[in-house]
Amino acid sequence: MIIPVINIDRKKCTSPLDCAVCLRQCPQAVFKAKPAKVYKFRETPENEYIITAPYWPACTGCRECVQRCPTGAITIEYREIPEGKEEGNNG
Ligand code: SF4
Ligand code: SF4
Repeated sequence: MIIPVINIDRKKCTSPLDCAVCLRQCPQAVFKAKPAKVYKFRETPENEYIITAPYWPACTGCRECVQRCPTGAITIEYREIPEGKEEGNNG
């Protein structure tokens, strides 16, 4: 079985809530923005959010995200793995 491994270079994706291109453009809604750190009694500042790809099993490999990301932060590799070992992908 071939699975997509979606990597997001956080040095290139520095302002995900302002950009949000991948969040809007992925037809499978694979991406999510989440706070990198959670504080007690106050909200996480916008510049401390990161993009993750928690819904990667829905990825069809269309590469829209790779082509549209304005900073080139997203790369996708396709990895062959044995059946039943699909876990452990993508932060
Ligand atoms: S390759 Fe296509 S389906 Fe997969 S994460 Fe990127 S935009 Fe979404
Ligand atoms: S499209 Fe690229 S730069 Fe924009 S939020 Fe997504 S990963 Fe970050």
